[in-house]
Amino acid sequence: MSASPTVLNVEDTQENRDLVRRILESEGYQVVDAVTALDGIEKAVQLRPDLILMDINLPDLDGFTAVTRIRSFSHLSAVPIIALTARSVSNDRERARAIGCDSYLNKPLDFDELVSEVARFIAAGHKEDSLATEREYYLKEQSVALIEELERKFAELKEAYQRLKHLEEAKSNFISVASHELRTPLTVIHSYTQMLQMLPAVSADATAKELLAGVTKGVARLQEIMNDMVSVIRVELSDSTYNFAPVSIRHIIRTLDHEQAAALAERRLTMTMNVAKDLPMVSGDLKQLHSALSRIVANAIKYTPDGGQITISARSFEQDGEGNQSLVEVVVADTGVGIALDKQKLIFEKFSTAENVALHSTSKTQFMGGGTGLGLTIARGIIESHNGRIWVESEGYDPQKLPGSKFFILLPAG
Ligand code: ADP
Repeated sequence: MSASPTVLNVEDTQENRDLVRRILESEGYQVVDAVTALDGIEKAVQLRPDLILMDINLPDLDGFTAVTRIRSFSHLSAVPIIALTARSVSNDRERARAIGCDSYLNKPLDFDELVSEVARFIAAGHKEDSLATEREYYLKEQSVALIEELERKFAELKEAYQRLKHLEEAKSNFISVASHELRTPLTVIHSYTQMLQMLPAVSADATAKELLAGVTKGVARLQEIMNDMVSVIRVELSDSTYNFAPVSIRHIIRTLDHEQAAALAERRLTMTMNVAKDLPMVSGDLKQLHSALSRIVANAIKYTPDGGQITISARSFEQDGEGNQSLVEVVVADTGVGIALDKQKLIFEKFSTAENVALHSTSKTQFMGGGTGLGLTIARGIIESHNGRIWVESEGYDPQKLPGSKFFILLPAG
């Protein structure tokens, strides 16, 4: 007995693929699936099926283009092709015939018709319409050349994308490994400094005490940086385990006020809060949302010169005016140096800073004190995993005129 005929089914929708497979397999055919036009072309070339079912609406190239390309291979010129489409475009049938399809079926499929058409064309094979004119011949040749060019570009893009993905993964892995490796010795240093501080010889010596306090401060800052690096990886890999519960943004803002009191006093900054009384709760992870807002406020302190003003406002409003979705909006405004227009998207990316990195100091709240450039990336990751949005508005960067910056955070209420 001869082997069962092979049908290549080029179709992007899973249910349709499964359905056609069930029907044709029950009729004794062997079915091979292809999910995209390029995949279809590749499998047709490799397998030389006995018949091809070609969906016309595909995510990469359309089915007509795929058929034109398939017909350009000499060993596929006799393979019958049936086009399938849900499109009710009147000249699709003519187009399908002109580019070399043998038949054309509308979706949703009539199963009896599918089975009889498949059987008919496998038995009959493909009959090439004789090309009417030389002009048509050259036009067809030209189309194939264009498709080949498209295929090459697709392949290049795919390769570039894979390379980028690989680089991005390598970068994340590097940060992850480096920060984990550095965290362990840091914890050891931290423990030993604490033990040293407790020694009578050290606690009685003012200079030794001061020196050790410096070491402790440095270690604490390094630990913070390491933690940020781990957080950013977590956010990027969506690896954080969030505990969702009703969260009061009003409460977070009040806590931030207490937490930043010392820094605000030291830098002679005024922080004003303007929170709507009826502010609804948001569904979220308290610790994470606190971390996100805290980073924005810490930046407002850092990038505002002494004597400046920071305002945190929060209100709620309906998204579409019909009461379907309430949003909570938090705005952190400062009277600081501002952010250049072309940097306003960039600063949410990993390791990006609008400042000159060489000028960075290592204090968190000192004016223009440097950081790792990860704070906003972490904040954005947290807000986005709460289905929220974060962006900044500023007239530009000007350390003399101090245009200030406004960070907007939108979170769905509920
Ligand atoms: P960093 O650790 O460098 O502060 P962030 O991710 O927190 O990293 O911020 C990225 C950059 O965005 C900062 O280096 C700074 O250039 C800019 N930036 C953030 N917040 C403000 C602000 N309130 N005013 C001016 N610039 C800001």
